[in-house]
Amino acid sequence: MALLGCKLIGVADPRGVDRKKLIVWVEIDRCMTDALSAVTGVRLGRRSLKYFDYGKVAATFLNTETGRAVRIAALDSSRALAEARYASLQSKKERQITTYREASEEELFKIEAVRVDFKETDAPGRPRTRLTCARCSEGVNDGREIIGEGGEVLCRPCGADGAYYETESRL
Ligand SMILES: [Zn+2]
Repeated sequence: MALLGCKLIGVADPRGVDRKKLIVWVEIDRCMTDALSAVTGVRLGRRSLKYFDYGKVAATFLNTETGRAVRIAALDSSRALAEARYASLQSKKERQITTYREASEEELFKIEAVRVDFKETDAPGRPRTRLTCARCSEGVNDGREIIGEGGEVLCRPCGADGAYYETESRL
């Protein structure tokens, strides 16, 4: 998936000369994400890897130089394909590896040309802005703040979104 994604957006050397052109969005926190990071060199800490918690084996690849982006989703039907095509092979792992190596891209993936909303404040490099939340006093980078009804700057947990945690006490 990683190699195909890079190829389709014209990124030939993601770990070398094309390093700064590639942004990848992953849609699951499973081993696929680490594999993708290892193959392409994108990393969450460099802001070249973005994560959405969709629970899908899928990723979008963007060439920031050309604006071309493709989304690739693994087809669930590829598992059935492995069972049908290589039923003679003993282990399931072997059936899958052989199938995935020999199947066409269309048999394994749904591939789409997409447009991604990628702003200056999503890009790698130094933070573009840093504001302080009027409620919790914590700093918020890169435009992730919300403006409250009274015009006050709020972080997402204090604003409309709510947080994934609930504070019990300050230690
Ligand atoms: Zn806050």
